[in-house]
Amino acid sequence: MFFHVILTTECNLQCRYCFGETLEDFDEGFGGFDLDYSLPKKANYDWKLLADFCRKDADCVLTFYGGEPLLCADEIKRVMGMVQPKHFMIQTNGLLLDRLEPEYVNRFHTILVSVDGDEELTDYYRGKGTFRRVIDNLKLIRKNGFKGELIARMTVMEQTDIYKQVRWLLDNSEFAFCSVHWQLNAGFWGNDYARRDFKRWSETSYMPGLAKLARFWVDQMEEKGIVHKLYPFLGIADSLLFNHEPCLLRCGGGWINYAIQTDGYIIPCPTMWGMKDYYLGHVASAEPMNLKKLFVAEPCSNCDILNVCGGRCLYANITKRWSKEAYAEVCKTVKDLVTPIEPQLPRIKQLFNDGKVKEQDFTFLKYNGCEIIP
Ligand code: SF4
Ligand code: SF4
Repeated sequence: MFFHVILTTECNLQCRYCFGETLEDFDEGFGGFDLDYSLPKKANYDWKLLADFCRKDADCVLTFYGGEPLLCADEIKRVMGMVQPKHFMIQTNGLLLDRLEPEYVNRFHTILVSVDGDEELTDYYRGKGTFRRVIDNLKLIRKNGFKGELIARMTVMEQTDIYKQVRWLLDNSEFAFCSVHWQLNAGFWGNDYARRDFKRWSETSYMPGLAKLARFWVDQMEEKGIVHKLYPFLGIADSLLFNHEPCLLRCGGGWINYAIQTDGYIIPCPTMWGMKDYYLGHVASAEPMNLKKLFVAEPCSNCDILNVCGGRCLYANITKRWSKEAYAEVCKTVKDLVTPIEPQLPRIKQLFNDGKVKEQDFTFLKYNGCEIIP
């Protein structure tokens, strides 16, 4: 099982798609859900409880999460000293990676770092100077011996040219990433669709960009024998090539990947903090292997591509923050993620036959925080 350990609700950035949206969303109400507004800002339960909880699952993977988890670097060290999961991972904005000594950083199996693309775009979304500090820290941790997987985690919205920015992340003179994942800022806030340009952008920029990117992905396999870890493509290709069984929610939220709030209550995914109706137990007493499982309902349960999509997002499915019509625009992007990969499959199979790429090149640690379906 995978657990996001939410160390703090505080963050040291004010990104447009998160802090900015929170401000705009403030007066909207929240669909009648019973919310806990008094969650502690920092984790306040005994780490021994987490150690005991984790011990009950031999494959337990813990991911430090926030807010910004590195605001609690001392707690990270304490947890890493007391708890023994199969792997530790972290999702961070990267600004404070230099504050954690290499002996800890180098123990992370995976670091997911928020970078939206090149300097101009990252700083536009995340604040001036962010890109430089993050990239400097990434160079530092590599220099200090971090050998794990480093995933560029992009948040994508209307200012993003997906083709250009993913290519930039893979190949640039600053810091080239081997692994990239992206997530659409879509369906998470209450009143943003009406003031945004999502439909036009997704039809004229994002979806055509996906098709180009899928061709580029396979071109690179042909030309260089490299399978870039572009997680959305990797996840879909894995299903279409190797696993033909219907997939469940690909982020794992609510069935294999849960989150532990700052007060120790377990929720289906980190975004659902404070949603009391979805508290699934407390770390003090819950059994990690026997947590209640939750699955997506309408419209996903009746969707003709549920088997390959998996439902995209449990939080969006439950809260329905975007109207049916608006969310249908997001679903079009899911279809347009699958559609350009299908015609590439014969090329990939041919590359297997020619020995140019191997099946192992497509393997990845599932539920590692990459949601696969953006
Ligand atoms: S495409 Fe949309 S409706 Fe269909 S399963 Fe995915 S998120 Fe749900
Ligand atoms: S995709 Fe949705 S359900 Fe899954 S982790 Fe992200 S917010 Fe949670």
